[in-house]
Amino acid sequence: MKEILKKSALELAQLLRDREITSVELTELCLDAIERLDSRLHAFLYVDREGALQQAQAVDDDRVAGVELPPFAGVPVAVKDNMCQRGIPTTCGSLMLEGWKPPYDATVITKIKQARLPIIGHTNMDEFAMGSSTEHSAFGATRNPWDVERIPGGSGGGSAAAVASYMVPWALGSDTGGSIRQPGAVTGTVGAKPTYGAVSRYGLVAMASSLDQIGPVTRTVADAAALQDIIDGYDPHDSTSLPDVPVDLLDASRELEAAQDLSGLRIGLVEQMQGEGYSQGVLDVFNATVERLRERGAQIVTVSCPSFEYSLGAYYLIMPAEVSSNLARFDGVRYGNRVEPTEGPVTAETMMSATRGAKFGTEVKRRVILGTHALSAGYFDAYYGSAQKVRTLVQRDLDAAFAQCDVLISPTSPTVAFRFGEKSNDPMAMYMNDIATIPANLAGVPAMSVPAGLSEGLPVGVQVIAPAHEDARMYKIAAVIESLATDDAAQCPVEALEEAL
Ligand code: GLN
Repeated sequence: MKEILKKSALELAQLLRDREITSVELTELCLDAIERLDSRLHAFLYVDREGALQQAQAVDDDRVAGVELPPFAGVPVAVKDNMCQRGIPTTCGSLMLEGWKPPYDATVITKIKQARLPIIGHTNMDEFAMGSSTEHSAFGATRNPWDVERIPGGSGGGSAAAVASYMVPWALGSDTGGSIRQPGAVTGTVGAKPTYGAVSRYGLVAMASSLDQIGPVTRTVADAAALQDIIDGYDPHDSTSLPDVPVDLLDASRELEAAQDLSGLRIGLVEQMQGEGYSQGVLDVFNATVERLRERGAQIVTVSCPSFEYSLGAYYLIMPAEVSSNLARFDGVRYGNRVEPTEGPVTAETMMSATRGAKFGTEVKRRVILGTHALSAGYFDAYYGSAQKVRTLVQRDLDAAFAQCDVLISPTSPTVAFRFGEKSNDPMAMYMNDIATIPANLAGVPAMSVPAGLSEGLPVGVQVIAPAHEDARMYKIAAVIESLATDDAAQCPVEALEEAL
């Protein structure tokens, strides 16, 4: 692996500005790494060699011509395959959309293009972002570069594996119940879910609209802050978009990083987020982080969020309800690869049934059925209505918690990366991966995962949760946690992987 690819996006941007390297050279290095490693990892569903090199060349030409460029111009990026990019296949990891080329750019893609980041390709994901392992991708799973017999997390395992293995310095993910943060935790990368509404969802293929947020996947906290700075902001195309708040997250991430004295900082531990279900190895790394924070003078307080116990149940009603509605458009008429019925009469209904039967995978079908049931007359109040009440209680618990502390921290994922097949046939076991990440989606607050250390030689992430609109605070504290992590926490042993090829 070329050492230069191990540099952060910030460092690479500096090298580009200093003309130590050109964007075409850097993009070629990423493309070479993809060529070498991705046959084994399968992090990418589509690599846009030509498009990326063209964008890189245009940046280089402008730099030579003395045109003023945005600060990160020329640093390549990858995007999860559920963000529409004009003319580039965007499949959501589903046979339903195989071969579909969007006629428009998602707002985040427009912003990435304005920032002049060459888009290297689209990354693998669980079908329509449903899963925690990428095993539900219709095109085959992604492997974890730390151990190729293990999952890279999900649903955004492709972006996380691509960044962890240095194939690309940074990437975009989407997070409905943890799909940026859990892959971050199990691949030793940084993943952030911004405050709901901070980043436009226009052009993100919807999973559960009241929970979905796009966010950065990087190797450092500062890079994540910088990438969120690039993609956030008000967008009239998204009715849930928040008004522009001119906060420089990158600056914020640097504020406390080097601080030796953290006194005055109140860090909350949630009683309900550390016991049952969490592996001892994960808890050991988490507790070591807490101790280091305490040694630096941070005040550690324990808070109770009793309704968190019901958040998984509430999520697995609200999310499928929204999924069943959002995925209704894939009917072979409006969207989706049509399949004609092979027997019986051909009607709109039999065609839709054949299309959805053939082109959706098992997990998607399971959730559509669950969501349709939860919303059906007679059951609505009992299921969906109760889940919405729990959602309010989760928000209230968090409000009460944030009255006692500045941020909350917890393990991001209850275990380290598990082996392929270990949970893919047991939906409940798979859903349990989301216990720590779901509350932030239900409440719409920002949360991110930072590599903190290793357990059994595999990465463990610590999650930082901040109040809504306090993304800057989240980055500030995440940078502290990053500085306290063990040296090996984010150093993916990619050389071993290369040797084995
Ligand atoms: N693992 C969660 C799920 O399967 C998270 C999905 C996501 O955030 N997109 O629903």
